[in-house]
Amino acid sequence: MKCFYHPNESAVGVCKACSKGLCPDCTADLGHGIACKNKHEPRAEDLEFMTIKNIKAFRAVKKFPLSGVLFNGVMGLIFLGFGLFGRAEISWLSTTLGAGFLVFALLALIQSQAVWREK
Ligand SMILES: [Zn+2]
Ligand SMILES: [Zn+2]
Repeated sequence: MKCFYHPNESAVGVCKACSKGLCPDCTADLGHGIACKNKHEPRAEDLEFMTIKNIKAFRAVKKFPLSGVLFNGVMGLIFLGFGLFGRAEISWLSTTLGAGFLVFALLALIQSQAVWREK
């Protein structure tokens, strides 16, 4: 593979952000990978940040697969209760919020099952 910016130079790696080949002159070493020098460092850092966050979120879900279901389910029931039995002027909002939380609870339940299946 050749450097994207210098077709005569051999690439030593690929940019984390755009996956183009880079020669040593065009390489910015970020510690966790390389990026186009003076061009894609911020994007590559963002990608790394997001990857780490996703991994952490995924691990959290794996550790407590039902916490999201419980939280959203309880919140949904509370809001639905307010909506159905509370004062009329806020009931539609509360009912909508409650229904929304219950949908999230359902999604969390589906997601947690997918996590278990993956093991
Ligand atoms: Zn180059
Ligand atoms: Zn790049």
